[in-house]
Amino acid sequence: MRVGVYVFAISVSLATLGVAQAQRVLGPMPATPAALGVASPPAVASSPTVCPNNPNALGVSRVVEIDTTGGPGFGFEHFKAYDFLRPNEVVLTFDDGPWPANTAAVLAALAAHCTKAVFFPIGKHAMWHPEILKQVAEAGHTIGSHTWSHADLSKLTTDQAKEEIEKGTSAVRAALGQPGAPFFRFPALRHPPELVSYLGERNIGIFSTDMDSFDFKMRKPEQVIQSVLARLKKSGKGIVLMHDFQRPTSAAVPELLAQLKAGGYKIVQVKAKDPVSTLPEYDEAIMKEFGGNVVSSRPISSVVRTISE
Ligand SMILES: [Zn+2]
Repeated sequence: MRVGVYVFAISVSLATLGVAQAQRVLGPMPATPAALGVASPPAVASSPTVCPNNPNALGVSRVVEIDTTGGPGFGFEHFKAYDFLRPNEVVLTFDDGPWPANTAAVLAALAAHCTKAVFFPIGKHAMWHPEILKQVAEAGHTIGSHTWSHADLSKLTTDQAKEEIEKGTSAVRAALGQPGAPFFRFPALRHPPELVSYLGERNIGIFSTDMDSFDFKMRKPEQVIQSVLARLKKSGKGIVLMHDFQRPTSAAVPELLAQLKAGGYKIVQVKAKDPVSTLPEYDEAIMKEFGGNVVSSRPISSVVRTISE
């Protein structure tokens, strides 16, 4: 058992403030809509949320902050110590981005519901598309990391695997211009014990999942929605793993969020107590690999502009 780890709800969440404001401005909020054809756990009243143009927004019902000292693990598929979700609570997580079009579609869907998720980007993708990852951060989502190249760490030497972890973390920092959260997800959810220990030494929390949607195997958005809802129905709550990298998932998210709301689920926003500490040698290594100052804070349109064609 590692010590010094705790999870707690911030007592006054944004959603709570939102309710008070809404009731002052708008009068009583409408009741939670009845489940619309979604067989799910008994619907409980979700916290109404102020969300422009969407009276049925999921919003954020609770904000938790995680102290990653000692590298706690989350997600019942692998870690059972810190089961912080209450019945009907869901944490949305999106892996393998940032990616053109698909990540933006996920962001738009989340924004339409005034809700928040955790993203686990691939380091190389972050370096290729820093402007997209910045949009994720600017929207207020939490950004962890998911290795440099999405290698299966169980097939690498320990040194190679550490490099994958560290370069992924440094890439997020380079793309954002500031470090992300000390949250890490192993590719393919393969957790070599020596690397779990290493993340503990690095004070980086590990996110497995309570339910893997297997959305990467699906071609149709309806399959993704069905997969997530069926698994949630079984467990009643959970950390849901999806992929903003995948087009069918990005197309599924708007309807999935509507169905989660209709089913009485509530979204928990997960934040980190402190940002991750990257290691300087890997910060340098990725910049070298990407040819120096490739990652700029300026959008490409302000650097290169077509003036004639
Ligand atoms: Zn992945």
